[in-house]
Amino acid sequence: MKSIDDFDVAGKRVLVRTDFNVPLAELDGRQTITDDGRIRAALPTVKALIDRGAVVIVVAHLGRPKGVVDPKLSLAPVAARLGELLESPVVFAGENPDDAITSAQPGEVVVLENIRFDARETSKDQSERAALASDLARYADLFVSDGFGVVHREQASVTDVARLLPHAAGYLVNSEASVFSKVLEDPDRPYVVVLGGSKVSDKLGVIGNLLTSVDRLLIGGGMAFTFLAALGHDVGDSLLEADQIPSVLGFLDTAAERGIEIVIPVDVVVADEFAETARHKVVSADRIEAGWRGLDIGPQTVELFASKLADAKTIVWNGPMGVFEMAPFAAGTLGVAQAIASRDALTVVGGGDSAAAIRLLGINESDFTHISTGGGASLEFLEGRTLPGLAVLEDSE
Ligand code: ADP
Ligand code: MG
Repeated sequence: MKSIDDFDVAGKRVLVRTDFNVPLAELDGRQTITDDGRIRAALPTVKALIDRGAVVIVVAHLGRPKGVVDPKLSLAPVAARLGELLESPVVFAGENPDDAITSAQPGEVVVLENIRFDARETSKDQSERAALASDLARYADLFVSDGFGVVHREQASVTDVARLLPHAAGYLVNSEASVFSKVLEDPDRPYVVVLGGSKVSDKLGVIGNLLTSVDRLLIGGGMAFTFLAALGHDVGDSLLEADQIPSVLGFLDTAAERGIEIVIPVDVVVADEFAETARHKVVSADRIEAGWRGLDIGPQTVELFASKLADAKTIVWNGPMGVFEMAPFAAGTLGVAQAIASRDALTVVGGGDSAAAIRLLGINESDFTHISTGGGASLEFLEGRTLPGLAVLEDSE
């Protein structure tokens, strides 16, 4: 994979695919960005390119407009915020970019309108995508892929355009890809993965692939209840995917054969309804009564998990330990996140909600080696799949 440092970009027009899919809220009738983390994540690449005298043309998407123009999903507010953060000129091209691009000077940035307003972007028909990609390729001399959140997608502005132009990985894609490659191919051991989140069915592929590499797997979150049920415990009204019990039993067998330790909760916080104001209590994980549902791991489990992390040299965390969005059920996620953050190890956080939990719970982001900006992409990486948006960058051009 080439880096932007391998190209002389002075006076060149560089098309940069970023992930600017930021959360928006309507404030006084205007679309306002509530978290600009994804814009900040692209700054090193954009800055380097403009500092070296390139014209930067940003292509990105926002939401799921499904191929039609939706003014609420315009990238105009994103272009404005990018200009503020860069403290340098950013032109929003709207839907007629030709003029903006021809008149742009070296060191300037042009942001194209939401690429998903064009149905060809996400078309399943390769020739439709290729047509859009060649429109985009005409604007530029070089393509830079820096939207890690989209590299698992086969889309015109992610993969097809890379096939038409000389291409490089931006700094963000480069650092994400090298961290995940390290973890996947050559983790320092003990290698411990903490998995949580809502459903075990979302993460079957991840668990299956991890059982070829990990030393220890700690299971919390909603998925823990399918593990507890597979071991014959009643889980009351907790999140349970009964149809996944055979897969879970298969995982437990494979782990036992390979000497991989799977650790499940010993106590849980149960509530009498799914609500912030619910009555709640801590019970032993094998004593969840009917009418109660587990919404967090309990304090003994936090201690157990922390002890299983103590000697780790590599830690990957994906998925909150409980319903951290509600204060009474956030302690498990907070405790485990703090335990991970305090380790002197390579610590990687993947998963959109896990990253959100770190910010919401006020944990210092710099205490982790790496917090991924790509939820879906990081999961597919951990599943051991080939990400099409990275594979195209590996082809020489
Ligand atoms: P990530 O985005 O980090 O991969 P997921 O999307 O898999 O994580 O899951 C996040 C969601 O899981 C959170 O919204 C959280 O409230 C929910 N969750 C965690 N534990 C439970 C539980 N015990 N019961 C129901 N939902 C849970
Ligand atoms: Mg999620």
